[in-house]
Amino acid sequence: MQHPGQTKKETRKPGKSRLLRSLRSFSGISAPLLHDRALRRRISTIILLTLLVTLAVTFGSDRIARMIYRTSQTTATHRLVFEINEFVARHFDRALTYLSTSPQVRSACMGNRTAAGNRDLFHMLATAQGALDASVVYVLDASGTVLGSSPDGSGRTLTGRNYSSQPFFLQAMAGQTYHGAVFGTAADDPGIYFSRQVLSGKGGDPVGAVVIRISLDSINSFIHNTLNKDQEAMLLSPDGVVLAASREEWRFRTTRLLTEQRRNELVKNRPAGGHILRPMPFLLKNSLVHYNGQDYIVDITAVELPGWHVVTLQRVPYPFAVVLVLILLTLLTGGMFAFTTLSVHREQALTEEVRLGRAEKNKAEADRLETLRELETILAASLVGIVLVRDGLITTANERMTAILGYTLEEMVGRNVQMFFPGKESFRKFVRMYARQLAQRELEHIEYKLQKKDGTVIPCTLSGKAIAAPDLSQGVVWVVEDITERKRAENELEQARKQAVAASRAKSVFLANMSHELRTPMNGIIGITGFMLDSGPTPDQRKRLELIRTSAGLLMRIINDILDFSKVEAGRLELEETPFSLRSALDGVIANLAVQARQKGLTLTVHVDGQVPDILVGDPARLMQVIVNLIANGLKFTTAGEVVLQISRLKDLGPDQVLLLFAVRDTGIGIAPAKREIIFEAFAQADSSHTRQYGGTGLGLSIGRRIVRLMGGELHLDSEQGKGSRFWFSLPFTVARQDDLPEPESADAARCPGGPPNNLAGRILLAEDEFINTTLAVTLLEDAGLTVKPVSTGKEAVKAWQEEEFDCILMDIQMPEMDGYEAVRRIREQEIKTGGHIPVIAMTAYAMDDDRGRCLEAGMDAYLAKPITRSGLLDLLGRFLAAGRDD
Ligand code: ADP
Repeated sequence: MQHPGQTKKETRKPGKSRLLRSLRSFSGISAPLLHDRALRRRISTIILLTLLVTLAVTFGSDRIARMIYRTSQTTATHRLVFEINEFVARHFDRALTYLSTSPQVRSACMGNRTAAGNRDLFHMLATAQGALDASVVYVLDASGTVLGSSPDGSGRTLTGRNYSSQPFFLQAMAGQTYHGAVFGTAADDPGIYFSRQVLSGKGGDPVGAVVIRISLDSINSFIHNTLNKDQEAMLLSPDGVVLAASREEWRFRTTRLLTEQRRNELVKNRPAGGHILRPMPFLLKNSLVHYNGQDYIVDITAVELPGWHVVTLQRVPYPFAVVLVLILLTLLTGGMFAFTTLSVHREQALTEEVRLGRAEKNKAEADRLETLRELETILAASLVGIVLVRDGLITTANERMTAILGYTLEEMVGRNVQMFFPGKESFRKFVRMYARQLAQRELEHIEYKLQKKDGTVIPCTLSGKAIAAPDLSQGVVWVVEDITERKRAENELEQARKQAVAASRAKSVFLANMSHELRTPMNGIIGITGFMLDSGPTPDQRKRLELIRTSAGLLMRIINDILDFSKVEAGRLELEETPFSLRSALDGVIANLAVQARQKGLTLTVHVDGQVPDILVGDPARLMQVIVNLIANGLKFTTAGEVVLQISRLKDLGPDQVLLLFAVRDTGIGIAPAKREIIFEAFAQADSSHTRQYGGTGLGLSIGRRIVRLMGGELHLDSEQGKGSRFWFSLPFTVARQDDLPEPESADAARCPGGPPNNLAGRILLAEDEFINTTLAVTLLEDAGLTVKPVSTGKEAVKAWQEEEFDCILMDIQMPEMDGYEAVRRIREQEIKTGGHIPVIAMTAYAMDDDRGRCLEAGMDAYLAKPITRSGLLDLLGRFLAAGRDD
């Protein structure tokens, strides 16, 4: 197929010859066409035929030429033969008949010779000679003697000569008409003799003979007059001797090979006079002879003289011009054939190509329509609205789009897309926000409000894709989804989530409040019990008091667990990041556990690898909480054997980062596989009977796992039922140096060797609204030798501070009217004006918040978590009061 570009290029050069162009285009197509086997065969055949014809023309044209020349030769031959027959043979035959039957001749031969008779005879013969244009006419008697003869040019006659031995006489006497060619002996002139016997009467005896002799010159002139320049002719005697010829040099030469005897005879009879009868330069055996570098075709025809022949030679020159023309014609015809074949083929190929192209086009069109139909179906069936916008105008939209916005397709098509927006400003804002983005990449799921036909505004998501980004004018396909329902569901969900969060928070607050509420009386119980134990009870009383204290301690642990749990749940468990000594921290917690182990007859082993660095950065309290919980569980669920805490260094994570492995292994009851995950859930126990048998809330592991996760690890469990369990976790720690450790709290205690000071002096302002706490604190403080002024609100506290002198204030945080923070702030504000600084120790059971930080921020000097213990309270007070005294 011709390339469109090609056509264009060619038409741009009209100056080029059309032939050249067509040839170029032809060669352009012939190359592929020649790959066609049938065509190739056809073209080869044409070329072969052309060559064959050319060869045939080259080699066969002389034959053609011969055929052409043969006609003119035949004409010449016929004319010559006719002339010889008519004007020689018949003419003289008739003359002989006339003469031989004439009375003059007959009577002369019969011997009736008179002078008048002789004269008449002579006269008749002379007349006959003239009329016949013969060289001589004479009469012989039966003995062969000339009775009378026409005169020759000089008036001499042959009368008296005897020709009895001459063949023309002998044959005439034998009754045959003789035509023989001889040289006349009298004149050296070659001639033909015609002789006829003379009968004595009708049916009578031969009495003599009449002889007419004509000169061969007249025949030669016949020949010359009849021929054209390309023709030669000759008259042959029965012996094949040329008597007359168009060429002088051929005369009296033999055209046949004569026997020796016959030649001698002829020489002797002198029919050719003195000529020695040389053979012709060519033999007439062939139909074609070659003479003097020329080809002649030969035609031999008999004449009416018995044994005599006329031979014509037609020169056939090689028809160069004809051959050339024929070859050219052949080549031209071959070329034309080839060209036509190629053209036809090309035509067919083009037609075929066009047909195929059309078929292909039809197929492509069918495919396109099919695809279009499919697309239309897809678009129609689509659950999202699809709209095509070109130059800001709506080009088309699918059914769903009409359903979403309530317009019919006709109402939409051709209108500005702005119609979908609730207002001009909304549309402008949309264009401002998204047009550029759309030109750069496709937009996905933008939430935007659109307006329906009835005016309702609905939330939609829009996704847009430019057909030929970044040119938006070519069209943008928008996919529109009505998300009213989804929004509603989302809102409901959000609502539900908020409610759930609120409920969860309420739960946490409730738990926190409850634990706060529980801790307050617990505070009282533990404090008073401790106080009573310190005040020298009887051994019996001591036992009971200790029982109370243990029970209260257990209860306190449960409360603490619940508090921790609610902190974790509320996401408010925060970890400290402080340098600490791992071994010291362990020392602080293991002693108690060792006592428990001993009481159960179990071995508690703590093994810390030598490679484990001692000073780490982290939250020691929470780490110990997890470890203590695991060891406590181990002790709880083991009846015989051991509980081992193993701490080892797993690997280094960086220059001063280590990964430590903590594992607590026991030889206890183990945990069933099915329960191994459940036990990490809050309030879950492997066996419900455990509550009764072992106690516990099911919170320890749940809290432990969460703490470990917060620290960047995971709490795992390996266990074999009946054999024991192994809880383990690995944690990353930053390694610190000894110097980084904070001042040990125990340093204060060191100031009061032998436990908390028992005899402190000073005035304490106690701000506490809670009766039990107040009672407990007052009891402890007074017992230690201090004077106490209790007040129950922040306001009262500030007032009392303004009015009286105190050495220290113990300030509860949660109080009616004015809370502890506010009270302290006011005191500190006044102190800025008046000068001075009264130590304020915060007391709080409200351990939910970051109380410590907040307290210090508010201007407090120390922080005391409830439940307050005697030692804790007096230690802290001792620090400030002592310090006060030092000042
Ligand atoms: P608690 O021990 O207070 O019930 P935990 O969360 O610490 O709560 O433990 C949950 C449950 O996991 C326990 O009740 C017990 O069934 C099982 N469990 C924990 N530690 C062990 C252990 N070392 N051996 C056997 N069972 C254990």
